[in-house]
Amino acid sequence: MKAGPVGRLLGRSRPLPALPAPGTVTLRARGLTVARGAREILREVDFEVAAGEVVALVGPNGAGKSTLLAALAGELPATAGAVELDGSPVTAWSTLDMARRRAVLPQSHTVGFPFTAREVVAMGRAPWAGTDRDRGDDAAIAAALAAADVGHLAGRAFPTLSGGERARVALARVLAQDTATLLLDEPTAALDLGHQEAVLGLARDRARAGAAVVIVVHDLGIAAAYADRVAVLDDGRVAADGAPRAVLTTALLSAVYRHPVEVIDHPVTGAQLVLPVRAVSAATPASAPRG
Ligand code: ADP
Ligand code: MG
Repeated sequence: MKAGPVGRLLGRSRPLPALPAPGTVTLRARGLTVARGAREILREVDFEVAAGEVVALVGPNGAGKSTLLAALAGELPATAGAVELDGSPVTAWSTLDMARRRAVLPQSHTVGFPFTAREVVAMGRAPWAGTDRDRGDDAAIAAALAAADVGHLAGRAFPTLSGGERARVALARVLAQDTATLLLDEPTAALDLGHQEAVLGLARDRARAGAAVVIVVHDLGIAAAYADRVAVLDDGRVAADGAPRAVLTTALLSAVYRHPVEVIDHPVTGAQLVLPVRAVSAATPASAPRG
């Protein structure tokens, strides 16, 4: 046991977590209801994620995706039902023990002080300070910077970065935390097409290495391509949860998004494509550039 505040903190914390066996459920919500003020934002949600899988959480704006992620992270109390992390109620874990087991990428990233990108990423290592695993800090930070393609930004002040660059630095912080469960809220929202694919590829890599990954995305084609399972939230309830082929259907998506949607197979690769039905196209000859 080391002396000082960290040592005392360690004295109260549980043993360092081992990587869960593939297929082990790391996070599970049962009958989860969350109210804010008088409104029930989530109603009787059952949800789980297992080591080795990527679950895409999708649904319209305001459906409750961020609320579900916050409740799964133990950051928002349940009104009814329960959330378990690694077999114990989230209410039973200390903040430090939870930070060693699950990392959370929030939907918005605010860093007031002009920390450099590297310093922001290094914050992800805080839960391991004073443990055997802090010897891996430099390697974890370097790997996370590289994985999120922000190594060239390491010395830049976070507030001076573009929205997409900030999003990738924030993701690198979460990767550096090196937990077995990852909760990512719209990590691709500000990203260009190439970086979106890269982030989903990273999620897959983490799952292949044994992590349980929940990722909120709006692009349903991306969800179909990279996720093992897709859970659709609609107005605080789970409208569907299963393999992309079973869940992403014209009927379900048109109903949930209140907009006609087509799901078709790519003519060459067979990949599922999800397209909103559009009444007019800007590229029709009638609206072609004049003169
Ligand atoms: P999503 O992430 O799916 O877009 P959210 O989980 O952020 O949806 O929000 C779900 C609903 O909860 C929305 O109607 C939103 O207005 C409401 N909500 C979110 N945060 C709060 C809050 N702090 N107080 C009251 N209502 C909230
Ligand atoms: Mg949200």
